[in-house]
Amino acid sequence: MIQDEEGSFRDSMTTVDESGKRKWLFPKKPFGALFNKRKILSYLLLFIMFVTPFLHKIFGFKNPVFLFDVVFRKEFFIFGQQFTSQDSFIFALGLVLFMVAIILFTTIFGRVWCGWLCPQTIFMEMVFRRIEFWIEGDANKQRKLNKQDWNAEKIKKKSLKYFLFLILSWIITHMAVSWIIGVEKMQEMILDNPKENWTFFIVMMALTLIIYGVYMRFREQMCTTFCPYGRLQGVMLGKDSMVVAYDYNRGEPKGKKKDPNAGDCIDCNACVTVCPTGIDIRNGTQMECVNCTACIDACDDIMFKLKREPKLIGFFSEESIETRKKFSFSLRQKAYMVVLVVLMAVIAFITFNRTKIDAVILRNPGSTYTVNGNKIINMYKIDMVNKSGDDVQFLIETDFPEAELQFIGQSSDTLVVAEGKVMNGVMLVNIDSEKLDGMKTMINFQIKGLDGTLFDSSESTFLGPKK
Ligand code: SF4
Ligand code: SF4
Repeated sequence: MIQDEEGSFRDSMTTVDESGKRKWLFPKKPFGALFNKRKILSYLLLFIMFVTPFLHKIFGFKNPVFLFDVVFRKEFFIFGQQFTSQDSFIFALGLVLFMVAIILFTTIFGRVWCGWLCPQTIFMEMVFRRIEFWIEGDANKQRKLNKQDWNAEKIKKKSLKYFLFLILSWIITHMAVSWIIGVEKMQEMILDNPKENWTFFIVMMALTLIIYGVYMRFREQMCTTFCPYGRLQGVMLGKDSMVVAYDYNRGEPKGKKKDPNAGDCIDCNACVTVCPTGIDIRNGTQMECVNCTACIDACDDIMFKLKREPKLIGFFSEESIETRKKFSFSLRQKAYMVVLVVLMAVIAFITFNRTKIDAVILRNPGSTYTVNGNKIINMYKIDMVNKSGDDVQFLIETDFPEAELQFIGQSSDTLVVAEGKVMNGVMLVNIDSEKLDGMKTMINFQIKGLDGTLFDSSESTFLGPKK
């Protein structure tokens, strides 16, 4: 690892000057093969982000494809599959597995998520920054515009930029909240008079202003100082992690193009001027690097012009730079990948093998038993959740010998629970006292479809007199 002359990158941030004031960054417009790939991926992800909340309307699906409604319906849809509060253990498990997967992914591939997949970077670099380039020009023009006095040109450009930023922030807020409350509710809220929905209106305006503030002022600080994932990467990366890195063995000593003793780096600073977080990757892996790969493209362009091998900056592990060996996955990384695949398989298995009907049948709290001749009667509470996406008719049966089930408030034995709804009911169970084990007998209930398909089962206790 090479340090700059003062080694100052270790104890100061590129975006803060000595007096502690923010240094505004003017990164140059990126270009190159990797940037083109990022663009395609980013626009694809943006398309997915904006279209997904509407998919069920476009294709006439019954359920939203993705919905994380923690506000109104208190239910989730993932790939059209409904999840309710009864499935919270899947979410808890999913969250743990997700965290583990992120840690494993980072130890292998570094901070690729930040540069290529994170919505913050995608919106900043592929939407807001591109609007800025379009209105104000490349880095030097932006610098000049910022320094100049407020004249007609500056007022026109700045007001157009901030107006577009504000509109975009409003759109992004509504898109993001649509993933939570759904497009139908969103439409209803937008069309309603704000007076009818003050809370919603204020929340949406506040979120819009926060997003506007992030892209107008906060920018790279989000990744370098605020995001906990970014702060944690230092402890997740190892010498064998693949990160955007400078091949110092090849590049050093820096020198002029014609210097025969110099390495491949001509110290042109192209990799620094393009960096959206303002760092010099030649100082080694730094907390601020979001692995956006803009410096790889910039340096490749210089190497191409010098007719030298590309990838003086590339995706390398510290180990592969040190030993000059080609990168290959280490045993640790292979083990991590196996764990990752197993974790994903576990989530998929649990998710797709959930019961469509969740039933809990428990003896009515606080009740004991009543006696009617030689029959003992217990009262049970039925809680059913229908996650199947259709209304479901069902029967409750028990294999307990000669037990009789009687549903309170129901005219037939066939019960119905509407799609996505919870049904609460009460039933009486009569059992001949001769058949009971004693004061407490276990009884199992089966919840079946009309064709006999077993949806779920539930076990409870049946109380009776002492024998
Ligand atoms: S150092 Fe390179 S990869 Fe890292 S943030 Fe800067 S330009 Fe992107
Ligand atoms: S772009 Fe390449 S050659 Fe230029 S300073 Fe960066 S590493 Fe050196």
